[in-house]
Amino acid sequence: MKSSDNEKIFFERLSKIDPDIIIALKEPKKEFSFRINRLKIDNEEIKKELFNMGLKPKRVDWFEDAYVLPIEDREKVIKSSLYTEGKIYLQNLSSMFCALELELKEDEWLLDMASAPGGKSLLWSSILKNRGKISAVEKDRNRFFMLKRNLKISGAKNIKTYQKDGRAIGKICPLYFDKVLLDAPCSSESKFDLSKENPIHYWNLRRVYRNSKLQKELIISAWGSLKPGGILVYATCTFSPEENEEVVGFLLKNRSEAKLIDVTLKLDNFKEGMTSFNEKEYDPSLKKCVRVLPKGAFDGFFLAKIEKIGN
Ligand code: SAM
Repeated sequence: MKSSDNEKIFFERLSKIDPDIIIALKEPKKEFSFRINRLKIDNEEIKKELFNMGLKPKRVDWFEDAYVLPIEDREKVIKSSLYTEGKIYLQNLSSMFCALELELKEDEWLLDMASAPGGKSLLWSSILKNRGKISAVEKDRNRFFMLKRNLKISGAKNIKTYQKDGRAIGKICPLYFDKVLLDAPCSSESKFDLSKENPIHYWNLRRVYRNSKLQKELIISAWGSLKPGGILVYATCTFSPEENEEVVGFLLKNRSEAKLIDVTLKLDNFKEGMTSFNEKEYDPSLKKCVRVLPKGAFDGFFLAKIEKIGN
C-alpha cells in the first residue's frame, strides 16, 4: 500500500472518530505540564523556586500538584536542578488524570502492567509518600532500565520492578492485586504532530490490528491478576476504536464479572466511548469510557475504568 493511501485511511478514520482531533493535532503545542514529586519538594517550595527562575506557571485546578507552563519554558525547566534531581516530573495532563483514576490507598497493592518509564506509578509514590505497594512490570529491556533509573532519581521506595511479559502475570499472580493499571502499548496516534512533514509514516492499519490482538491478551491477563472487588484501569494514547472500545468490549464479553464504572473527573474535552465504528457494534455500556481530545497540555487519550464484581 502506498503511503498516500495510508494517510487517506488515517484521516478518514480520525474524522469519523471526531474531526476536532485533526484540527487539534495540526496545531503546534503551546503548553506543557509537570507535577511535583512530594518525596523531594512541596508546593510552597516549588512556587519559590519557579519564581526565582522567572517562571509563572498556571496551577491545574483538579490536581494540586500539577502545573502548566508555555512550551518555550520547557528547555529551561529540563536543564534545571528541579528536573535533574527528580523534584518535578514532566507528565502530560492526560497521564496524570489516568493515574489519579486509580485512587490508590495506602493499604492497597497496585500492579502497573506495562509500566516504563514509570510516570503513573511514580505519581502514587509521590502522593502516598512511599506508602502503598506497587509492582511495576515492563517487557522491554531498555525501557526497564529507564524505569529503574527514574525510580532511583525520584526516591521511590515502594515500587518493585519486574522485567516480564505482562501476558504472563494473570497466571503467575491470580487474584492478587487491589488495583491494576494496563497503560497498554499502542499505535500512539495522539503523539503524531500533524504540523510536521510526513507525520504518520510508520502508521498503518496492520499495526492497529496487531496492537489490538496484543492488548486483548494483556487485558485478559490483567483481569486474571485482579482481586474480586478490585478496579482495572485500561488506557492508551491512541484513538483507534480497535485498540480501545473493542479491547474493553472483548473483556466484557469474556468475563461476566467485569462492569464499566464512571470516571471521577469530567472535563469539556472528555468524550464518551463509542458504541459502533465502521460497521462494528460494541456493548452500549462502553459509553462510560472516556476519549480525551487533545487540548492545551492534554494529549489525546483513552481510558476505561472497570470493576470486578464480587467480594
Ligand atoms: N505507564 C507508563 C508511564 O506512564 O510511564 C507508559 C507505558 S507505555 C504506554 C507502554 C509500555 O508497555 C512500553 O514501555 C512497552 O515497552 C511496554 N510493553 C509492550 N509490550 C509489553 C508486554 N507484553 N508486557 C509488558 N509491557 C509491555
